[in-house]
Amino acid sequence: MGRVPQSSIIVVGNEILRGFTVDTNSNWLAMRLFRCGFPVRVITTVGDIDADIVSAIREHIQRPELTRIFVCGGLGPTPDDRTYVALARALDQPLAYRREVGAQMQNLMFMRNMAARRGTAALNAGNRRMATLPQGGTLIRNGAGMAPGLAFDLGDGRYLFALPGVPHELRAVYEDVELRYLTGGRADVVRELHYRMAPESMFHDVMQALEQEYPDVSLGSYPQTETRELILRASGPDAQHVEAVIKAIRERITQYAPAG
Ligand code: ATP
Ligand code: MG
Repeated sequence: MGRVPQSSIIVVGNEILRGFTVDTNSNWLAMRLFRCGFPVRVITTVGDIDADIVSAIREHIQRPELTRIFVCGGLGPTPDDRTYVALARALDQPLAYRREVGAQMQNLMFMRNMAARRGTAALNAGNRRMATLPQGGTLIRNGAGMAPGLAFDLGDGRYLFALPGVPHELRAVYEDVELRYLTGGRADVVRELHYRMAPESMFHDVMQALEQEYPDVSLGSYPQTETRELILRASGPDAQHVEAVIKAIRERITQYAPAG
């Protein structure tokens, strides 16, 4: 059996750690990565602190099972945007001004009529900072904003990506990443059972046994407190095994019947 591709996410931003912003980016990315067969193994959140971003990146790179690493946020023009600088340190690459990125920014400023408002078409220090990138990265177009995405080839079929933090920009850049770097994955099969009002603890023994019987199926219990519904969700690479687990739960839990 070949190596199952796995992803990881590093979310960067003080606003996340302080509770000002809900981290919707990693939720969205996790959903997309799962669907295209590169499920997320770990998510790390760090603040806008160079040393923390660098060590998170290095830790993820040191885990060979993580074949796609996403660093999200902190690509912008202000001094609290440190991701490119941290990436340069973590990858041991010098930072260099990329003229094509600067030119692209000037185009965007022109199109958005920003040059007129600012009274100049020249890039300011913040703009130049956004175009100063670690060497060795392949640019990924950002159709929704100024900060480009970056892809780094880590060797051995592994890649690291930098994505902007603004959610609609992250999504726009990710679409290109998926087309170019996330091919050939096989999404796990997912099946669910929905029980009304069934107590979770009832499922303990059955779930424990099924974990042993089908080690390649991941089985979880998710109570929905608002609808009072209990969802049992099984997923795994082998559809027959996933089906067998679902069937076994139906058969072994006789006191309650799932809906549908
Ligand atoms: P920009 O290029 O626009 O400056 P950036 O890559 O620097 O983007 P950030 O400065 O980190 O991104 O964040 C920009 C905006 O996106 C902020 O309003 C921030 O709260 C929001 N944001 C950042 N990270 C996340 C996240 N994980 N989930 C949801 N929103 C986020
Ligand atoms: Mg930020």
